[in-house]
Amino acid sequence: MKFIGAHVSISGGVDLAPRNAKQIGATGFAMFTKNQRQWHAPKLSDEQVRLFKLSMQECGYEPKQVLPHDSYLINLGHPEHEGLEISRSAFIEEMQRCEALGLDRLNFHPGAHLKKISVEQSLERVAESINIALENSSGVTAVIENTAGQGSYLGHSIDHLLRIIERVKDHSRVGYCIDTCHAFAAGYDLRNSECFEAFFSELDQKIGLQFLKGMHLNDAMKPFESHVDRHDSIGSGQIGMKCFEMIAKAPFTDDIPLILETPDESLWAEEIQTIKDFIV
Ligand SMILES: [Zn+2]
Ligand SMILES: [Zn+2]
Repeated sequence: MKFIGAHVSISGGVDLAPRNAKQIGATGFAMFTKNQRQWHAPKLSDEQVRLFKLSMQECGYEPKQVLPHDSYLINLGHPEHEGLEISRSAFIEEMQRCEALGLDRLNFHPGAHLKKISVEQSLERVAESINIALENSSGVTAVIENTAGQGSYLGHSIDHLLRIIERVKDHSRVGYCIDTCHAFAAGYDLRNSECFEAFFSELDQKIGLQFLKGMHLNDAMKPFESHVDRHDSIGSGQIGMKCFEMIAKAPFTDDIPLILETPDESLWAEEIQTIKDFIV
């Protein structure tokens, strides 16, 4: 099965996410579990959890169809003590919120070294942050997203993902998410079948495609290797529709959430249908 959807709103309550997804014909979805612009949020009440689970059930979604995303404030590779500590505690809370909601994975950007420590040191911190979070939660897989490589952001190369994952102690609860716009901006061409296959076979050889726990399907507004993270609607950007057709047809995208984070929400239902139509 392919689980195709978009990053939907939780405005009005987390239980509205499954309903918002259902409305656009999604067979999977992404969501925040709290306001992503704040460090902390009050613990989810029993009633909020009950309503979310009911909504999941009524809309026919299972945990593996959902890819929650953490707050953008969190930097698990932070060079400074205070920034690292607040990030780690906020990330543990995010993992615990997923656990409370019965969700099985949490997608996040690895972090940034802010030019104050080396890439290697920062990658080590990210791995250690994940180890701490895994010790303080259960049943939730930490899903590291590749990035466009803007500024001092980590995670723009397959090697970065590998160097984090190999330091994580529990390999049953770590994985990665590939964002097509970020990969393309970082210098991985996905415009034709040769480069597409080269990219995914490198991922498979170095880390393993069994660690792929979700994808973000975004076209790129900026040119190849721009290192700029600017999403476009699928088929309207620099990558082009062929890439999304290949994703829809690839066996390694079965049973993981495939999520649009494209800028024009009014197109989501249509974009989801387009990808569904590619599936043979
Ligand atoms: Zn993304
Ligand atoms: Zn992005």
